[in-house]
Amino acid sequence: MSDSLITVVVPVYNEEQNIKPLLDRLLPVVKKYQYEVIFVDDGSTDKTAGVVKKYSAKNPALKLISFYRNFGHQMALFAGYESATGSAIVTIDADLQDPPEIIDEMVKKWQSGAKIVYAKRRERQGESFFKLGTATFFYKLINFLSDTPIPNEVGDFRLLDKTVVNYLKNLKEKPDFLRGLVAWPGFPTQYVFFKRDKRFSGDTHYGFFKMLNFAIEGIMSFSTKPLRLATYFGFLSAGLGFIGLLYEVVKRILYPETFVTGWIGIFVAVMFLGGIQLMTIGIIGEYIGKIYKEIQNRPNYLIKEKINL
Ligand code: UDP
Ligand code: MG
Repeated sequence: MSDSLITVVVPVYNEEQNIKPLLDRLLPVVKKYQYEVIFVDDGSTDKTAGVVKKYSAKNPALKLISFYRNFGHQMALFAGYESATGSAIVTIDADLQDPPEIIDEMVKKWQSGAKIVYAKRRERQGESFFKLGTATFFYKLINFLSDTPIPNEVGDFRLLDKTVVNYLKNLKEKPDFLRGLVAWPGFPTQYVFFKRDKRFSGDTHYGFFKMLNFAIEGIMSFSTKPLRLATYFGFLSAGLGFIGLLYEVVKRILYPETFVTGWIGIFVAVMFLGGIQLMTIGIIGEYIGKIYKEIQNRPNYLIKEKINL
């Protein structure tokens, strides 16, 4: 197995400062194997593509795919999977938050039979309390809602056997949430542990709203439970309304002299019901939006340029 090809896929979006430091650490690791490194430039507006080209001119194992515009991290990863020729495919961030050195351990676990090897974060550094909190909450929520267990504290730093990548390539749906799609079939899985470092240079591209959107994407892709919850909310509020009605009728029969104030009650009921209705329509809308996107079936990304591929 030591002569089999290892592909490393690196999605890059405005990472010009990080390419050299990444290669300085990644190449000594992958040189032990037959390797290719595929950079996927996700519509960078800085010199990222230029920097990669400079290195790929000297080394044919360093390859580049450039998109016309930013199609997002998941699509960049997917493009890497679609062009990878290795027997094992590792995806890693460009910002050195993921230590390339543990690829050796991942390869060992793969050689001993794992089809998926996740790098699991034991600790994270240089990330805000808020990001950690929201990430934990997200994993709890998605695992509560989803029928596919999505591994906790695992990002997109992982090794996949060719079999898994072929399964991904053959899916007919949008690869909007690769973590879930990778976990779904239940391939033999192993973990290696690491400490997540600070970003080497630049800022995260995942601000609050992007994270929130990604989380909603994940939930919608892997669960229809929100629709079920909406149904329960409907039953609950209808039930409450019915109890209220009974109470009113009984009170009027037994105590007809009671003066009716109660506008506050009506106000609360209207707000509550209105809220639930809007929420429910929103949830249904999200799923319809997803169906619409799948039916449009637009390409996942558009390639402007390929180097060494
Ligand atoms: N990235 C990308 N397209 C995007 C956003 C990010 O290709 O639209 C890349 C980015 O260059 C990096 C990786 O995806 O290599 C992870 O992004 P980032 O470090 O910003 O996310 P975080 O580690 O903060 O979750
Ligand atoms: Mg990062």
